[in-house]
Amino acid sequence: MRPTGKLHLGHLHGTLKNWVELQEGYDCFFFAADWHALTSEYENTGVIRESIPDMVIDWLSAGIDPEKSTLFIQSKILEHAELHLLLSMIVPLPWLERNPTYKEQQEEMTGRDLTTYGFLGYPILQAADIIMYKAQKVPVGKDQVPHLELTREIVRRFNYLYGEVFPEPEQILTEMSKVLGIDRRKMSKSYDNAIYLSDEPAVIRQKVSQMITDPQRKRRSDPGNPDICNVFSFHKLYSTGDYIATVDRECRRAGIGCVECKGRMVENLISCLSPLREKRAYYLSHAARVNEILNEGAKKARMIAAQTMDEVREAIKIK
Ligand code: SF4
Repeated sequence: MRPTGKLHLGHLHGTLKNWVELQEGYDCFFFAADWHALTSEYENTGVIRESIPDMVIDWLSAGIDPEKSTLFIQSKILEHAELHLLLSMIVPLPWLERNPTYKEQQEEMTGRDLTTYGFLGYPILQAADIIMYKAQKVPVGKDQVPHLELTREIVRRFNYLYGEVFPEPEQILTEMSKVLGIDRRKMSKSYDNAIYLSDEPAVIRQKVSQMITDPQRKRRSDPGNPDICNVFSFHKLYSTGDYIATVDRECRRAGIGCVECKGRMVENLISCLSPLREKRAYYLSHAARVNEILNEGAKKARMIAAQTMDEVREAIKIK
């Protein structure tokens, strides 16, 4: 995950909950991808260093368990850079130019010059990150499938040229539940519409009070339509099945007002986040423990990376 700012509910439901499940069945490696963050934040590098501890605290608070998973910072394992360089020798340029997110992101991230070599080549760095640990499986959302396919192509080319060193990683297609922001657009830091995992209850209440509901429902006496209401989509995440059914019914016959409905939803949201908030407070006051977790993770990652790079240098005959 790129450390480029605070994590919000979109990260929690879209990514972290999947990670927590995966660590039960797999030996997982999760890292703060600070070199990847550099590809777009090279003019504002301060945000990267600032975001790392906070992001890792959010992972731990959401349930990532350092006893089960390996957590580390990408730039602490210099072998990633070496493998990136070696892979970049064998990757034809058109493979990178056809990457669908390359052009999309250039258009989306206005105000930044992303016509850099680093940005074009980030899928190679991604491939290095994955195959360094000889990963068998990679959790991906639908939009990241082409990236993983590129990694597989790179593996095939490497193995063809130098001999079988890497397994082809397979995808674990994860259902990314999309959380909308308070303005009904995708939740995102850049839209200023996010509820952050670090937000205090008072801030969450204030943000939810601004949430857009069914835009057609002008008065309390108008029936509403929960299917197009953002507050209802939050009820589905944080309220009980019975209460979801009640809102669904009462909203349609104007039996409940939006203020009351939001009020119930936000209290459920706050109480669902309460265990996360408690863990967060613990790790914030135990910064040394967070560093220890990252150092231990780096030690384990480095051992595997060193072994992989020995095999790679041997295979390429650069030693
Ligand atoms: S009552 Fe609830 S579900 Fe219905 S429009 Fe208002 S906020 Fe949305």
